[in-house]
Amino acid sequence: MQAFPSALNMSITAYITHPSFFKHEMGVDHPECPARLEVINDYLVSRGLLGLMPCYEAPQVTQQQLLRAHSARHLAELAAMVPATGYAQVDPDTRMNPSSLIAARHAAGAAVLATDLVITGEVGRAFCAVRPPGHHATRDAAMGFCFYNNVAVGIRHAQRHHGISRIALVDFDVHHGNGSEDIFAGDEEVLMVSTFQHALYPFLGQTPKGANMLNVPLAPRTGGEAMRKAVEEKWLPALNDFRPELIYISAGFDAHREDEMANLGWMDGDYAWLTARILDVANRHAGGRIISTLEGGYALGALARSVGAHVGVMIGAIDA
Ligand SMILES: [Zn+2]
Repeated sequence: MQAFPSALNMSITAYITHPSFFKHEMGVDHPECPARLEVINDYLVSRGLLGLMPCYEAPQVTQQQLLRAHSARHLAELAAMVPATGYAQVDPDTRMNPSSLIAARHAAGAAVLATDLVITGEVGRAFCAVRPPGHHATRDAAMGFCFYNNVAVGIRHAQRHHGISRIALVDFDVHHGNGSEDIFAGDEEVLMVSTFQHALYPFLGQTPKGANMLNVPLAPRTGGEAMRKAVEEKWLPALNDFRPELIYISAGFDAHREDEMANLGWMDGDYAWLTARILDVANRHAGGRIISTLEGGYALGALARSVGAHVGVMIGAIDA
């Protein structure tokens, strides 16, 4: 058991980002675009939230840190694909430009820095404003806009470097976090709970790959009520039984009703409510420690407001 941060530091939430995230782009009409981070940053500034958060630049992840979550072959294949100009097609939806892999290294590095900051008690929580996202990247493959599995690299760092042995991963992106499931299925030190629209890309997750996976598929055209019911009836009992020492969030905001990537009808307030329930679990078992990393969310206005709700609850500026 690590020392918990002092009560004074508990609601201090780091904001971790990097300029390289603006150089990774996959073509003019691609929804996973640099503007996503711009609107988040602008919104948090305009609401006075960013001023309440200590800001950090994400370092590059090391090869050793990546190898805890990915195979050497995957890392070598990605490194060999980096184009000198233009794009390299990684999968039907995912492209690499000359700057993409550098950005991906900082995105994974953000989760490592967040882990160090929270475990040493320098801050109580962290939000990683990163792209590319990570939760579809499996041990062996990039897919679905993701190259390295950022949250998995962070969790492995907590396990292997800091010796934390009960970690919860909460994934509320509208798409199933198949990459994280692939990496952690069967790892008794990690409990992954998720909701996702079914059926929807990547068309996986209905049958969990391990006993440590609690997958809750949600039907298309359902709203926040269905999510709240799933959280209260399924996630919370499992999380409270597990008693995590540290909670990671794969924070995707594409279940929002304004997001055209999927067909769920969550509202800004649903993200505040959901974050508050995760915070309840963190306060009860984990000394309030939460590390959240951005995954999806493509309707720019809704994305910015929903991140504002999520972060606002974490820093204690919003009650829900
Ligand atoms: Zn998504």
